[in-house]
Amino acid sequence: MGEGSGKSILIAGAGPTGLALALELARRGFKSRLVARAAGPTPIHESRALGVNARTLTLLEASGVSALILAKARRLTKFKISAGGRSLVTLETETFRSHYCPIQILAQGETERLLLQKLSAFGIVPEWSTELTALSGDVKKPMVTLQYTDGRIETVEPDMLIGADGAHSAVRKAFGFAFLGNAIESRFFLADYRYAQPVDTGFIEMNFLNPGVLGRLPVNEDTLRYLSTDEDFETRIDHPAMVLEPTWSSEFRISFRHVETMSRGNVFLAGDAAHVHSPAGARGMNLGIEDACWLAFLISEGREQDYSSLRMPAVKTVLRDTRRNTAFINLKNPVLTKLRSLLLPLVNHIPSVSTAFLRNAAGQDTPPPPWIPGAQ
Ligand SMILES: Cc1cc2nc3c(=O)[nH]c(=O)nc-3n(C[C@H](O)[C@H](O)[C@H](O)COP(=O)(O)OP(=O)(O)OC[C@H]3O[C@@H](n4cnc5c(N)ncnc54)[C@H](O)[C@@H]3O)c2cc1C
Repeated sequence: MGEGSGKSILIAGAGPTGLALALELARRGFKSRLVARAAGPTPIHESRALGVNARTLTLLEASGVSALILAKARRLTKFKISAGGRSLVTLETETFRSHYCPIQILAQGETERLLLQKLSAFGIVPEWSTELTALSGDVKKPMVTLQYTDGRIETVEPDMLIGADGAHSAVRKAFGFAFLGNAIESRFFLADYRYAQPVDTGFIEMNFLNPGVLGRLPVNEDTLRYLSTDEDFETRIDHPAMVLEPTWSSEFRISFRHVETMSRGNVFLAGDAAHVHSPAGARGMNLGIEDACWLAFLISEGREQDYSSLRMPAVKTVLRDTRRNTAFINLKNPVLTKLRSLLLPLVNHIPSVSTAFLRNAAGQDTPPPPWIPGAQ
């Protein structure tokens, strides 16, 4: 079992949250054990979380991961909003005063591989294809049964159990954490397309179809992601170059849920295990990495019991904002959609509104990490 100051730490899940947690612990001299049901990191072609925000880069600077991300990621220079193809708002990220650009673009699988690279330097490799199949004991003394693909079973009793095991978290369910909230009616669809030549990857565009929306996001130099509330959205895409192939598609319903407390006794939750919301605002992976960095800091200070009270306000802020953004994107009432198109161009002329939007995108609307001097 992984150890630091004599305490054994078991992390369930090796997504961005579990990996960031193990790394932040390791660089402070705390060795953890990391197990994951998945056979490996997220495949590169499943682009998933594309936005790495400025707060995440600030948090991952000390481990050296940010430098690796910046060497691979694409800088986002503009956020555009249009309606029926007519431009309503263009926000230039250059106007945002911060050490880092609000959002850099890198596929989730790439970010996970960079975390893994730095983690391996501490001699920590996740135990892939290892599933938590049963949890017993209580929150003071959790007992975990691990099952390997060859059928072998192991029971462990960690001093600290951290559930970074995603939205369907076995740890959360086993230890009675309520996960309150709701799913919204609409379905969302996405498709990634690879083109025969490089395309403009400097901007994100949301085009209101009234009703519905079609989003265009960069993935890498020759691939774009389209995201929509309209099932027939692919017929409405104005491809910027000859399509080579669709590389990934997915369909999902959006839920807004969070736990009421992120720890009970010696059991802690982080990332999607503790909160889920819509991808509007690109916060999911970033918020999970932020949880991980806070928890590692607090463990290293012997203050892990402060984790929930320090993180819950940030979680509630992000859930509230993404809920509001999703409702705004998803407006159906024709009077309200018309009003939205009339009012949005004003954003170009109200610096406080555009700054608030960019601050949000940068992830700087939650408390800054106290262990990083001058962090925004
Ligand atoms: C289409 C899509 C687009 C998205 N876009 C963005 C975006 O632009 N920006 C953003 O920030 N976020 C985005 N997200 C959200 C982001 O992908 C998630 O928030 C992020 O992956 C959460 O990380 P996590 O480590 O908490 O959980 P996960 O990535 O879900 O990892 C969970 C880990 O737990 C393991 N596990 C699960 N159950 C068990 C078990 N019983 N035993 C052992 N291990 C287990 C899994 O194998 C995995 O290793 C998007 C998500 C989707 C689906």
